[in-house]
Parts: sequence; structure tokens; C-alpha cells
Amino acid sequence: MLVAGWKNVSLIDVLGHPSFTLWTCLCNLKCPFCHNWRIANGDTSICKHVEVEKIIEELEASRILIDYLHVTGGEPLIQFIEISDLFMETGELSIKRSLNSNLTLPKQLKYLVEKNLVDHVATDLKIPPIELFGLSREATLILWRNFLESLKIIKDHDIPLELRVPLHKKLTVAVFSVHLDEVLSNLNTSTTTILLNPLLGEPLTNPRNPDWCRENCGAQEEVLNNIVDLLRSKGFSRIVVKSIPGFQKS
Ligand code: SF4
Repeated sequence: MLVAGWKNVSLIDVLGHPSFTLWTCLCNLKCPFCHNWRIANGDTSICKHVEVEKIIEELEASRILIDYLHVTGGEPLIQFIEISDLFMETGELSIKRSLNSNLTLPKQLKYLVEKNLVDHVATDLKIPPIELFGLSREATLILWRNFLESLKIIKDHDIPLELRVPLHKKLTVAVFSVHLDEVLSNLNTSTTTILLNPLLGEPLTNPRNPDWCRENCGAQEEVLNNIVDLLRSKGFSRIVVKSIPGFQKS
């Protein structure tokens, strides 16, 4: 597998659970706020080929300290055959498997889900996609449809979902509401945890597009509070707001 590295025990990647976290390389999106963009680009100074067996050895060493193997990136589903092998062997160790994906590759997701290899999914609800995917309008529309299809697969298989909402200054409650209505029928409110995540820019992170982030990263408290109210009115009870240093109040 092409990977950027791993952390044997992480307390921040799966809400409420310690995980062994693995970063896979390559991604099909170009999000302007992405702070793993070198990994997403497959930078050869960071990304190396590592055998699945080597990762399993490391995982076994951390076994008593973790609940999940959490695979993130980049976009892990680009290497779904290798992820399938990794998740299969992880299951044999009785460790649960968490996939952090942009969910724009539904066929690959379905392949893993139908083999019962995924116990937890984390994804971003990138609103508006036309701004946050960093791609052409045409490509974004196709991938947004793919995202909706992936959410349905997760709902149909009753997989717990951590839905992370990147908050930025262009996100109004009206825009959020329109897109939320699009995804709502593909979500199970009782198994979805919403994580509201104000985007951070420099110097706390190293975003792909620092100019975009200087203009847009961060969120206003009033908008955030209104989004929380809207989510509650739609039936979500598990809502977490990620605390950030220097949060901007309206
Ligand atoms: S989907 Fe994730 S890894 Fe890929 S570019 Fe966007 S933020 Fe970065």
C-alpha cells in the first residue's frame, strides 16, 4: 500500500475511541482547506510502499490499547483492494475497522461493505461542494451524486457514521439547509454523530490554498448555533462542536 505513515495510538481520530491510525496516499479531490494535501498528492518524499503484513504487525503490537484501526488519507478507497486485505486481517484480530473517506467512490465502498469489512465510517459533509471539492463544476456534480449514493450504502447497512461538517465563513445557514435536505433521506439520524468542525488555517495548519483559507477558514458563532438548532430540528441528537483556539465570535 502507498502510505504516509501511522500512529500506533491516537485519541483524536475516532470520536470517543482510541485508534491505530493509518494515513494512505492519493486523493481524487482538491479541497482548498486540505492540510494533508502533500499526502493527497502522493508526494514521494512522504509516501512509501508498505506491505499490508507490516501494518498488521504494528497493529498487533497496539492491539490492547485500541478499539479501532482507523484508515484515513488522502482517500483510502483509491487503494480499496489493499484496504480490503488490511480490513480482513484486522477483523481476524478482533479489532474494529473505521474508514475515513470522502465517499465519492461508491462502488469501492460497496465492495468493502458487502464483505462486512467496515464497522464505522467518518466523512466530511463538504458544503457547498462546488467550493470545497476544488474541482470543476462538472466533476463536482458527478462526485456529489456519488457521495449521496455512498451515504445510502452506509445507511442501508446500518453502519455508524461520523459526519464532520467543515465550517467556513462562506457557509450560511440557508446554504447549509439546502444541502442538508439533499442528504437527509440518505442518513440514519440515530446512528449518525455530527461533528461541527471550524476550519483552521495558518499557522495552526498548512492548507493547500493558504489564500483561500485566509479568506474563508473559521466560522461565526451565530451561524454555528443556528446550524446546531437546524440539525436538532431534523432529528439529530448527537452533535459535537470541535473546540478550536481563537474561535471567532460574531
Ligand atoms: S478529500 Fe480529504 S484528503 Fe482529499 S483533498 Fe479533500 S481534505 Fe484532502
